[in-house]
Amino acid sequence: MKAYILPKMTWPEVEKSLKDVKVAIVPIGAQEQHGPHIAEGCDSYRSEKFSELLAEKCFPHVIVTPTVTYGVSPHHMDFPGTISLRPETLMAILEDIVSSLKQHGIEKFLFINGHGGNSATISVSANILTRKYDVEIASSDFINAAVNTTKEEVHSEHFGHACERETSESMYLAPEIVRTDKIQAGDMNMDSFAMKYRKKPYISIVNQFKEITNSGNIGDGKKGSYELGEKMINEALDNISEFILDFMKTKR
Ligand SMILES: [Zn+2]
Repeated sequence: MKAYILPKMTWPEVEKSLKDVKVAIVPIGAQEQHGPHIAEGCDSYRSEKFSELLAEKCFPHVIVTPTVTYGVSPHHMDFPGTISLRPETLMAILEDIVSSLKQHGIEKFLFINGHGGNSATISVSANILTRKYDVEIASSDFINAAVNTTKEEVHSEHFGHACERETSESMYLAPEIVRTDKIQAGDMNMDSFAMKYRKKPYISIVNQFKEITNSGNIGDGKKGSYELGEKMINEALDNISEFILDFMKTKR
């Protein structure tokens, strides 16, 4: 076994692994539109594959739980196929995962999130559950961990959904979900109120994706590539595995 992936293990294998495991990795995604060229499970596929690669890199100290394949996506509901959890539903799922694994002796958790719409809910959950269950919880929007590669190679003014970055990551992690013949730049509503304030760090508004983009994507997937995805994922893996090595050693 080169990585501990919980749903693929028997209970005696899990029991043995727990002698070495220090951190449970919980991949979290979404079921929502990703423009005309990426399948709707994009965030779930990416977070699951990324978590599995992390588990290989940090073997035998981490174990990956089953993926939470739904997320908080009410802002994508104008596009067919999107299924959204209420924030309190996601919080309940995360609580049940943490409380179950705590009973098996795991006291450190890393939530690996593939969907920006989940971030606020995950942050609130981590704060509540840390104190309620006397555990340590960290979370990462792992797409942001490719710090240098994004700075050097992604130059569009507006990107962030089924864009060059996410298309590249999908090409590398899960090529089967990318329709390469359908890749197009986002058909964005540049004059909309939501777009005007999208990049202002001092204002946060609640809006629907349809207000910003008719095609569902923000950015230009045509500028993406497998090679860019590989570079981003490798940088993110290095940064987050370095964090895990430190996180393993913390004492409460
Ligand atoms: Zn996404």
